[in-house]
Order: sequence, then structure tokens, then C-alpha cells
Amino acid sequence: MKKNDIFDLEITDMGVDGEGIGHYDGMTFFVKDALIGDVIRARATKLKKNYGYARVEEVLTPSTFRVEPKCPHHRRCGGCQVQALSYEKQLEFKQDKVRGNLIRIGGFSAEEIDAKMLPIVGMETPFRYRNKAQFPVGMDKDGNLVAGFYVARTHSIIPVDDCLLGVEENAPILEAVKEWMLANGVTAYDETTGKGLLRHVLLRFGFTTKEIMVCLIINGRTLPAQADLIARLEKMDGMTSISININTKNTNVILGDVTECIWGQAYITDYLGSVAYRISPQSFYQVNPVQTEKLYSTALDYAELTGEEYVWDLYCGIGTISLFLAQKAKKVYGVEIVPQAIEDAKNNAKINGIENAEFFVGKAEEVLPEFYENLKRDVAAGKGTEDANAMLTPDVIVVDPPRKGCDEACLDTMLKMQPKRIVYVSCDSATLARDLRILCDGGYELKKVRAVDQFPHTGHVETVCLLSKLHEA
Ligand code: SAH
Repeated sequence: MKKNDIFDLEITDMGVDGEGIGHYDGMTFFVKDALIGDVIRARATKLKKNYGYARVEEVLTPSTFRVEPKCPHHRRCGGCQVQALSYEKQLEFKQDKVRGNLIRIGGFSAEEIDAKMLPIVGMETPFRYRNKAQFPVGMDKDGNLVAGFYVARTHSIIPVDDCLLGVEENAPILEAVKEWMLANGVTAYDETTGKGLLRHVLLRFGFTTKEIMVCLIINGRTLPAQADLIARLEKMDGMTSISININTKNTNVILGDVTECIWGQAYITDYLGSVAYRISPQSFYQVNPVQTEKLYSTALDYAELTGEEYVWDLYCGIGTISLFLAQKAKKVYGVEIVPQAIEDAKNNAKINGIENAEFFVGKAEEVLPEFYENLKRDVAAGKGTEDANAMLTPDVIVVDPPRKGCDEACLDTMLKMQPKRIVYVSCDSATLARDLRILCDGGYELKKVRAVDQFPHTGHVETVCLLSKLHEA
């Protein structure tokens, strides 16, 4: 096999970025735009030792799971990788992927997983689910102003007024911003020359409050014709916050460090369950609030709280899960590496009148072992308080780590602390499987597994697991 060879390939699997995967001649091939069930004529584009990349030359037999994508831009846009796959099949694929990883990487038996795994939680209507949109602004080759999305793996902009994953409120706002630019000669930023003013339009929408935030990311310090922009936007239903963010660097990072509110409040508010969250342009906030609520409700359910429990929430971000749990627990400690997120978490606790949650900045794999060692020493010296003692042997530890999973030092300390239950929320089922094996070898039993589809039309899947401590014989 060499580059540019043509061969027939059956697609049998899907990668995290939605690419099709097939096997030929002892090699695994990754193919963009090929779907599970397709038989294609493939052209090898890149070859490594036992895997390679290929391009679709022709679809010989289309997959029976193909559907007509709703979005006309789907082939070019980098946003939805698997919109052409029926939603039912997307869910089935995600369920199988989690199951497969738990068996293959986690070493659990198929019988055990099938007995413990609940059906994946999908969306009823898997469109219009995103509460946040970031539209790049630029010029096309004829010098026309365009805003939309990047073509997959490039920085050329497809003009898209309405993305079907975003809310309907986005299109008229984007239109108003473009009209304001044209009326006032405001230029779009050009990545190659570093000239031009407007880089991105960031929009956020509170699903429960209907509050809207507009943030213009600019290559400059001030906005020309600011009053005209505000006049065009402020009359829109739900408009709550208008701000500018200054980013004069030549970088792919969208937001700069300084944000200035130019109209209304500096934030919008949204609710998950009954907990209010204040969201500013820079805040991290889950983008699919409908599914997030289902994900966290499942985690809460698995934690089995009665109001008496001592709980750790590791990798807590802005305290989303911590505050959800705090309503039903005695005490919650959150740990997170990003200081700004901890500021947000403390603030969110305050606006909800939640007083039984405390937050710590640092790496989970450092904060937890330090806490454990220090406290054990204090207790031995008769200095421990009742609360601190209880946090040493908590009822529940919840973890929600990034893709790389938990650090071993963190897992080791969790095992030493012997919580009654561990609730593991994961965005990568491969590292989840690896970590569950360590926890199960360390005296825990896997009780329940449930996948939740947070990102329809992409290859990503979230999973919640419950583990409980095996009773000593
Ligand atoms: N539970 C939160 C955030 C989950 S995302 C929510 O649902 O909103 C994972 C979080 O882990 C991120 O906020 C990231 O900043 C944080 N993080 C990454 N590595 C970490 C580490 N070693 N220790 C603690 N937190 C970490």
C-alpha cells in the first residue's frame, strides 16, 4: 500500500471527531465524511505503520443509516461531523463505544456491563441545543462582509446566518451587527494582515431566563459608533448584556484578557434545576443546558444524598455539580485548578444562599493528598474537628475530570479515604475505563453506568458511573 492507492473500504466504526473507521489489508483507516455502514472507494492520503488516512473518492454503497442532513452547510462546516448519520444510530454508536471501552480497556465482562449499563440519554429534539455561539467575522474574496463558521480544519469563513445547533435568537443579532458595520464603515479583522476591527461575535442565551448576551471581540480598544450599535441591539427581546472584549494579539485564541460592559449588566443569569448561575463572557458554562441538567440529575441520583452526607466534588469548574449536590448534602468541598473558576464557584454559592459548600484552588492530585495527610496528622494529635474528620472519610466523592482522566495520585488518595460511594462523570470513556479498573481493583464495585448525549451530531459522549465500596468480609 502506498499513498494515492485506491481501494474499497467498508466503514465499521466512528472516531471521536466523527470520522469513519475501516480496516483494509491489516491497516486501520480514518476517513472524513464516511459513515458507519458505508462502502466506499477510498484513496490513501497518509500512511503510518499500521494505520492511515484516506479520502472518499466515491460512496459505492451508502450506509442505510444515512439521512439527509438538515443543515445545507454540513459538508463544509467543521461543526457537526455526523449530521448525515441518523440520530438513533448516533446514540447507538455512542452507547456501543462506552460499552466497548469498559470491556476492552476496563477489563469488565460483557455480562457485567450489560447488567449494569442503562440506555443512553439522548435528546428529544437534537437541534438548537447550544446556549453559546461564536461567529468569526471577515471578508470574502470579493470584499463582502461575512460572518459564520470556519470551514473544517481551515480559517476561511462560510457565511452562515443560522446554525441549527444554536438558538433562533442568534440570526437577527448577527444581522444587526453586520448592518451596524456596513452603516458605520466598521472593518472586519483580517488574520493575515492583523488589520481590521471586529474579530468574533460571541452570543450567549439563558435557556430558562431568555436573557441574551452579546460580546464583540475587537482588535482595538474602543468601538466606533457605539451608540448606534447599542440602539440596534437594546430593543431586542431579552437583551441583557452588551460588552466588548479586547484582543489585539495575532492568535487563534478567541477571547482577550479585558472585557468591558458597554450596556446593561456584565453577565446573564441562567438556571440548572433551581440553582442560578451568573455567566460572564469569559465564564465556562456547559453549552447544552437541557442535557447538562439530565447529566447532573443522574450524578445527584447516584450520590444518594439525604442531607447528612459529606461530599467532595473534584474537578469542580465553576461549582456546577457542587452546588447541585450542596442542596441535598451536609457539606461539599469543591477542588478546581483554575483560580477564576473558583471565584465564580464562590460567587455562585453566594447568590444562591448556599453556605455548606467550600472551594479550593489546586490540582486534585495535590489538594486531596495534602488534605488527607495533614488531617490525619491533626486527628492523631487530637486536633481534628468534627467536620474535618468527616471529610477525611467522606460519604461520596464525585469526579468530573478532563479527557485525560484522573491522576493516579488522586485515585490512590480516593481509595485511602474509602468513601461509601464514588460518582465518576467522564467525557472520555477510554480514560474512564482505565480509572474504573484501578478503583475496582482497589475495593470498589461498579454499580451503574449511564451515557448522556451532550453533543448531538458530534462523536463526543459523556458518561456517569456509580461505584460503591465493597463490604469487608
Ligand atoms: N464539573 C465542572 C467542570 C468539569 S470540566 C462542570 O461540569 O462544569 C473539568 C474541569 O477540571 C475543568 O474545569 C478543568 O479546569 C479542571 N481541571 C483540569 N485538570 C485539573 C486537575 N488536575 N485538578 C483539578 N481540576 C482540574
